[in-house]
Amino acid sequence: MTVILGIEGTAWNLSAAVISEEAVISEAESTYKPPHGGIHPREAAQHHASELKEVVSRVLRGADLDSMTDIDAVAFSQGPGMGPCLRIVATAARALSISLKIPLIGVNHCIAHIEIGRWRCGAEDPVVLYVSGANTQVLAYRSGVYRILGETLDIGIGNALDKFARYLDLSHPGGPKIEALASKGTKYVYMPYIVKGMDLSFSGLSTAAKDALTVHKHKTEDVCYSFQETAFAMLTEITERAMAHQSKDEMLLAGGVAANRRLQQMLQTMCQDRGARFYVPETRYLGDNGTMIAYLGMQMLKTGTTTPIEQSKVRPNFRPDEVEVTWRN
Ligand code: AMP
Ligand code: MG
Repeated sequence: MTVILGIEGTAWNLSAAVISEEAVISEAESTYKPPHGGIHPREAAQHHASELKEVVSRVLRGADLDSMTDIDAVAFSQGPGMGPCLRIVATAARALSISLKIPLIGVNHCIAHIEIGRWRCGAEDPVVLYVSGANTQVLAYRSGVYRILGETLDIGIGNALDKFARYLDLSHPGGPKIEALASKGTKYVYMPYIVKGMDLSFSGLSTAAKDALTVHKHKTEDVCYSFQETAFAMLTEITERAMAHQSKDEMLLAGGVAANRRLQQMLQTMCQDRGARFYVPETRYLGDNGTMIAYLGMQMLKTGTTTPIEQSKVRPNFRPDEVEVTWRN
């Protein structure tokens, strides 16, 4: 039996998991909650540094292994993410790999979101909409690579929601709070809908939403509703175009923003209209989690893909299309 320890800590969540072949054995996490405002990279990194020992000890205790030597490899999020946070996790993973004499596996965080979704939902070859704090991408697999078919030209959809939420004095993460307010909105007010080919822009939305409140005096609920309707329609449009161009009849939704019910509903309707299957994994595997890192680490280890220490430097701008996908054929 192969056992992998995975550690995630690209931004707000420090999370570890121990998995065997294809079952989750143990999970532990510690979430950084900014006292006010957004995530400060150095403060989040300090949180991860002070919690790491506890989280790793807890996940190992939970796994009830006879000893640490039962772990076959340690996987970690190598990027993309916040540099200071990535370095804390990478340092710990390297130390474990060296002291236990087990392989180290540097994992692309975006692909981990995709692969845990494929695993949990049984999707075979979907077009993926990956929506998180910092990232927004539409991807599909072809010839050994997850190709990026469309993406944000500026900020991720999660950050756009969080930014507007901060303006409303709502605490981090703002996405779920905007969702709750939006569900009470009834009137659509104008928001900029910016799709350029297969790419998107969200930075103007937060500003437009502020203006809708302060200049045009619309109700907060209506502004949240309109913000969501606009941003999610943009996402649905490029996802549908990707499915048409790639001739794919499956769609997988991944990343923290995927928890949003309205986004799920819009994509589900689009898939139904096309006769395609829509997949979204259970909520706990949507936001950043250690299990997805351990799971992708397992797939990589099985095909002999490991990371020598000298190549384990963190990659804050690591793009999913830089990864050679060895575990799919
Ligand atoms: P991740 O980086 O994948 O963990 O995703 C974090 C992002 O997901 C943050 O920007 C959150 O505001 C956002 N998020 C979480 N839940 C929801 C939700 N229900 N609706 C919209 N955004 C959400
Ligand atoms: Mg993420």
